[in-house]
Amino acid sequence: MMTIYNNLDKWCQIPQREPDPKTVCNFCKQVITEDRLITGPGVNICTDCIDLCNEIVSDRRTEYRKKYIEEMSTMLCMADEALTAEKAIVLACSIFDAGYRKGEI
Ligand SMILES: [Zn+2]
Repeated sequence: MMTIYNNLDKWCQIPQREPDPKTVCNFCKQVITEDRLITGPGVNICTDCIDLCNEIVSDRRTEYRKKYIEEMSTMLCMADEALTAEKAIVLACSIFDAGYRKGEI
């Protein structure tokens, strides 16, 4: 005779264990102690991954600044033929560091 499991439907409704334990970094997948883990809504990140992210963001910002200053100093030299390349770069650095960014049209 076949067994009928009357409670099977109830069992299926029990919330399953979180596939992502509270002590695992979602980026590097390492088990991390709580004092080295930042918990967000459904995700965790460890301090090592945060340091790596900060390096990546810093490198990207440095590259963006360099490219922007090159473009701006080239435009300044085209606008003023008496301007030397060195002075144009100094001006472009000052303008960039003051916060000016070319807007999107
Ligand atoms: Zn990590």
